[in-house]
Amino acid sequence: MALEGLHHITAITADAPRNVDFYARLLGLRLVKKTVNFDQPDVYHLYYGDESGTPGSILTFFEFPDAAPGTAGDGMVHAIVWRVAGPDALGFWAQRLTDDGTAVTWDEGGLLRFADPEGLTHEIVASDAGDAPLTARALDIPPAHALLGFHGVRAYARVPERSAPLLTALGFAQRAPGGAWIAQGETRHGVIHYDAPPAPHGIQGAGTVHHIAWSAADDAELTSLRSTAIGAGARPTPIIDRQYFHSVYFREPSGVLFELASRDIGFAVDEAAAELGTHLKLPPQYEGQRAQLEAALTPITNPRGGTAG
Ligand code: ZN
Repeated sequence: MALEGLHHITAITADAPRNVDFYARLLGLRLVKKTVNFDQPDVYHLYYGDESGTPGSILTFFEFPDAAPGTAGDGMVHAIVWRVAGPDALGFWAQRLTDDGTAVTWDEGGLLRFADPEGLTHEIVASDAGDAPLTARALDIPPAHALLGFHGVRAYARVPERSAPLLTALGFAQRAPGGAWIAQGETRHGVIHYDAPPAPHGIQGAGTVHHIAWSAADDAELTSLRSTAIGAGARPTPIIDRQYFHSVYFREPSGVLFELASRDIGFAVDEAAAELGTHLKLPPQYEGQRAQLEAALTPITNPRGGTAG
């Protein structure tokens, strides 16, 4: 039993239409589910990913239209790291982003860095990892250059050593002191790397990551990992039904909100695979409020065609 890398990453946007344009058009991800925040159903929860929303490729956003811009600080994820196949793909993304007016910078080691329109930082690395490629089929992005899913995240932590016992208990390993912590599963791996925080404290808001979810098999594994987390000092929630997966949440000692999410349900549970992201899907408890919710939500267009309003 091991976590199979990341399951999903959830961030905050104040502008759903612009968010869809950036992630589904420019980055070429597929909008695989348009639903609402189950804890606050008058705002969107948008899911992007590969063609079927495979765990390891799922980037989600809560839309809070009035959210002020946030800043990542101590205890927060500050960058999302994607994999591509090689240097040619990095070059493709540098050109595509620049042509679209998104500034890019190259880091040592050939890592490409950019930010979304609300300041959320992304990095792309060329990876020779054996993990299966999790690609979406955007018509204007050659498949060889497409994003392949998450490599991991970078978070700020003042004393990252505090997180070591919990991470170790959950099965993460570090290849070198001070290096990234790796969740190595049988088929996928994902990493979290801690960096020294900038001086100011962070502010949760638009353009910041809300939580990261690691990939667990099913309820049995969630139950077992939940006990492990308690034994390592965490205070997890009960298992919560999120319609497309089941989840357990807890804050790790450096402050990052962790979720463990199951892989055994998926997005086709309430929408045909060919139509993912086309309809506003509501969990049963909110179906009775559909008319009011549809009236309150910002209309958004899925670039894959049709007005998904
Ligand atoms: Zn989540």
